[in-house]
Amino acid sequence: MVPELEKLIAQSSRIVFFGGAGVSTESGIPDFRSVDGLYHQKFDYPPEVMLSHEFFVEHTAEFYRFYREKLIVHGAEPNAAHRRLAELERQGKLTAVITQNIDGLHQAAGSRTVYELHGSTLRNYCTRCGAFYPVEYIEAAGGDGVPRCAECGGLVKPDVVLYGEGLDMDVWAKAEAAVRAADMLIVGGTSLVVYPAASLVRYYRGERLVVINKQPTPADALANLVLHMPIGQALGGPDTAG
Ligand code: ZN
Repeated sequence: MVPELEKLIAQSSRIVFFGGAGVSTESGIPDFRSVDGLYHQKFDYPPEVMLSHEFFVEHTAEFYRFYREKLIVHGAEPNAAHRRLAELERQGKLTAVITQNIDGLHQAAGSRTVYELHGSTLRNYCTRCGAFYPVEYIEAAGGDGVPRCAECGGLVKPDVVLYGEGLDMDVWAKAEAAVRAADMLIVGGTSLVVYPAASLVRYYRGERLVVINKQPTPADALANLVLHMPIGQALGGPDTAG
């Protein structure tokens, strides 16, 4: 609990939270952009290449080998930050969570209005007929490991925004509107270097901008409160610690 943060939360009724990988690392999910994250020698290409649209199209089997091992999450649980944000929404104080994460942990914690800028590993669709498939279908794909549609045989693709793909403009518009209408914006667990997502902060016009990140971010200079600490520690209290 941080008293200055709690004071700002108490004054607000339209809080928007915008978070990144740091929110999930506290649930044990590695940040594939960080040095001690997924940069292992095990694969022939760096993650940005393997998670690109071009690689998905041209090396689909290898894409899925990497994707299954590194991006699908096994057994991760929401942490104190996820739980506190869900609680604030239930209390009618928080209007939306905007996330760059693809693990579904905000929803698992009970958050309902979640704008997933980069999609979700929990949703997968046939690229030919649009049939939906859960993550288990991707995990269980046999043969060459490439999941194919049970209906039409088409290639199944995760609903995840790969490098070289545009964001879902509908999700983006909703996220932007939520930020514009917010009376408090909490930016957490993101270094704010991934564009265009990082530019969302610019739409906030209020007086309660809080940045919570272990390292400094470009938004620190604009913020009314900067906390260089783990997000779960900042948002979790004695009652929500975990
Ligand atoms: Zn299909």
